[in-house]
Amino acid sequence: ITSEELTKQTLDNIKKTDTKLNAFIDLNDSKALDDSKAVDQKGIDASSLLSGMPIAIKDNILTKDLKTTAASKMLSNFTPIFDATVVKKLAAAGAINVGKTNMDEFAMGSSTEHSVFGPTHNPWNLNKVPGGSSGGSAAAVASGEIIAALGSDTGGSIRQPAAFNGIVGMKPTYGRVSRWGLIAFGSSFDQIGSLTRNVYDNASILNVIAGHDKHDLTSSDKAVPDYTQNIKKGVKGLKIALPEEYLSDGTDKNVKDAILKAAETYKKLGATVEKVSLPHTKYGVAAYYILASSEASSNLQRYDGIRYGYRSKDANNLAELYVKSRSEGFGDEVKRRIMLGTFSLSAGAFDAYFKKAAKVRTLILDDFKKVFDHYDMIMAPTTSTPAFDLGSKTSDPVSMYMNDVLTIPVNMAGLPGMSIPAGFSDGMPIGMQLIGRPFDEGTMYQAGYAFE
Ligand code: GLN
Repeated sequence: ITSEELTKQTLDNIKKTDTKLNAFIDLNDSKALDDSKAVDQKGIDASSLLSGMPIAIKDNILTKDLKTTAASKMLSNFTPIFDATVVKKLAAAGAINVGKTNMDEFAMGSSTEHSVFGPTHNPWNLNKVPGGSSGGSAAAVASGEIIAALGSDTGGSIRQPAAFNGIVGMKPTYGRVSRWGLIAFGSSFDQIGSLTRNVYDNASILNVIAGHDKHDLTSSDKAVPDYTQNIKKGVKGLKIALPEEYLSDGTDKNVKDAILKAAETYKKLGATVEKVSLPHTKYGVAAYYILASSEASSNLQRYDGIRYGYRSKDANNLAELYVKSRSEGFGDEVKRRIMLGTFSLSAGAFDAYFKKAAKVRTLILDDFKKVFDHYDMIMAPTTSTPAFDLGSKTSDPVSMYMNDVLTIPVNMAGLPGMSIPAGFSDGMPIGMQLIGRPFDEGTMYQAGYAFE
């Protein structure tokens, strides 16, 4: 099969399936076909797994000449003039970008219901959410629309949707992948990664997208290993920690059982698994929503109706133009974050909120450091419950925020976290989270591959 044939089949299939799922915001129809023809002409590169392969990109990652909306009215007509570094790297490896996936507006949310283009549905049960914010990417991969998709993860947005859809999602170490061309949400948390059907594919994609980028000074210049090289080595002798706080009463019984069963599997495979404590876990959500919202309030200042994006039609002066463009262009959840963040950074509230939250961040990091003094990897549930019903949390932001209680600490500490399928509860997938030392994605892939 040629890349052109595969790309055409992929696009045709998406057009059919997506009437139910709404996983895509925009397709890259004609350009994808041209790109695939070009790969065929040059000849498929056998050394690159991605050569000629259709993939999808979350719609907060810039794609030159292809609309990039962040699922917001604010950017609904925005066409970037350059590609994100990850997009460039994937294209150089021969991957074909077939389109942009749905998400929560500006990546703020846990269900892909905060999208100006309407919600994405979970392919396992269309009445359930696919998780978020990379819900479109996850649903597209789980349904077989596409083999792999890029996502972004600020507080769980790759891992939680991966868990809800029974697929693999890796949030690499902060700094492992360039954020150049990722629409900023919380810059000290944001990281790009991929969602795939299996661990090997995921490692192959990290091989391509990881590495230093002169456009992103937070990207690490640590050498990028071949993440597939040791992937089949197994877990013999690996010391795995199982944090008690992740198996507390808040965690669903079926989820707990699945993780405990996985722990037995790892023991049988020759690893040791021991209970540990990460005592500051419970403060993660509160601190994260202050810190990430503060960064968001600053990052989103640029959407003023002047430089780019949506501009209100009926403003009489400059101040009104700012206010009306932002009031009309942003959705409710984004406004909530901007208000929360602006308040936390204001002179009167800074010490009581932002500074305290920053201290909690350090305590969470120290919890992890202590565990990694003695263990090679942490295993835990990705989420405390499987996917919830569409509409069941939209009117209760705090219960939506609480959904991230098990994914947020990883972003607070900048660690790599991966969700892999670990069973089912009433027909819906359960995700297991593997958490590694900084830049030790290789060990996580090894452990993920051994479990699959
Ligand atoms: N659900 C979290 C939030 O709304 C995380 C989102 C993300 O990782 N982008 O902030």
